[in-house]
Amino acid sequence: MSAASVAPKSVAPEGVEVVNFGCRLNLVEGEAMRRAAVAAGRRDLAIVNTCGVTGEAVRQARQAIRRLKREAPSRAIFVTGCAAEMEPAGFAAMPEVVGLVANGVKTARESWLGEREDSGLDSVFGRSPLEEGFEDHTRAFLAVQNGCDHRCTFCAIPLGRGVSRSAPLAEITAAAARLVARGFHEIVLTGVDLTSYGADLPDRPALGTLVRAILDSVPGLARLRLSSIDCIEADAELLAAFAGEERLMPYLHLSLQSGDDMILKRMKRRHARADAVALCDELRRRRPDMTFGADLIAGFPTETEEMAARTLGLVEDCGLTFLHVFPFSPRPGTPAAKMPPVASNLVKDRARRLREAGDAALRRHLRGRIGRTLVVLAERGGIGRAPDFTPVSIGRAPPGSFTKVAVAGHDGRKLFGKCLDDI
Ligand code: SF4
Repeated sequence: MSAASVAPKSVAPEGVEVVNFGCRLNLVEGEAMRRAAVAAGRRDLAIVNTCGVTGEAVRQARQAIRRLKREAPSRAIFVTGCAAEMEPAGFAAMPEVVGLVANGVKTARESWLGEREDSGLDSVFGRSPLEEGFEDHTRAFLAVQNGCDHRCTFCAIPLGRGVSRSAPLAEITAAAARLVARGFHEIVLTGVDLTSYGADLPDRPALGTLVRAILDSVPGLARLRLSSIDCIEADAELLAAFAGEERLMPYLHLSLQSGDDMILKRMKRRHARADAVALCDELRRRRPDMTFGADLIAGFPTETEEMAARTLGLVEDCGLTFLHVFPFSPRPGTPAAKMPPVASNLVKDRARRLREAGDAALRRHLRGRIGRTLVVLAERGGIGRAPDFTPVSIGRAPPGSFTKVAVAGHDGRKLFGKCLDDI
């Protein structure tokens, strides 16, 4: 699961404003929550959908609550999300806050019916998938799994989202078919710990089984993409799907966190450095155009210079292209918060070196695509995505359309070239 970013706020014409923080799953839930509140007849309401991954995310949520109150003093403000689950008293004590809504029931219409007092957080977590289309008929997110059974020492998410539970496979394929019928060309499967999909279901279908089921039962779907996965839990059927399914996009974002085995042990991660390298090599052997992104933490407690160097070396050894680098910040209530910290200047410096290595890897990746012709799915703002998630500048192609692009160059962040024709 990756750390906090402030997603654009969404305001319904009915005056229900949702401010989302954090991961894709929170973004998907935020949109479903806004629809649920509108359907429950709520008007003139603000909901802050918090993230609890970092102390910074919590600070930003508080800031947003105060800003919302200043902007509309008479509007009711409710708080939900992982940080509200982890620190309910802290948010409930804010004078600006009318009430808290449990993460597990926030997308249910019933949770927004009638006058709602602060009933505290009853963390019941549902099962059904959440389908939501976001980007201009371009890409839809399908949240198929929630919660987590692992206990990584730096992570508080299980405190905010409960145990892992999966949506039934048949409901997911039906939801995917509906999204394609609504005109979406790409579906992104998302969750908290996606690779644990199905472990709680009667037949224990693996993530690879789900991928195959969607591609087989929805022939009209042009592109299926996965959000972030745990490298050690990629199942055999998933690897086979990457090898044989053109419609499964050749891109994986890996939750690696470190490239040093001792640090991985202290993080309570389930993989070793060699497992990450082996997975990337194996997938590239089966699908030569595979591209990888990864989450990496800089400055985890007790990390020495040699250990940090092994993480830096992972960028090359795994052939990573898109890096999300997180300077370590302790989360209250996690074991890592009690471990001897690395000096903050070293944390910053190691994060800087990782980002620089990421930028250099991205430039190499972009350079390697000059002269190729790529099929790009257009998004808003003249940008589209190649199958391997590389951003491509595509001029005025309408969002949701496919365009062939002859790549002529790059600007260090994205490719550009000549649009040959719309497909
Ligand atoms: S796998 Fe680890 S990092 Fe990911 S949500 Fe679970 S506890 Fe957190």
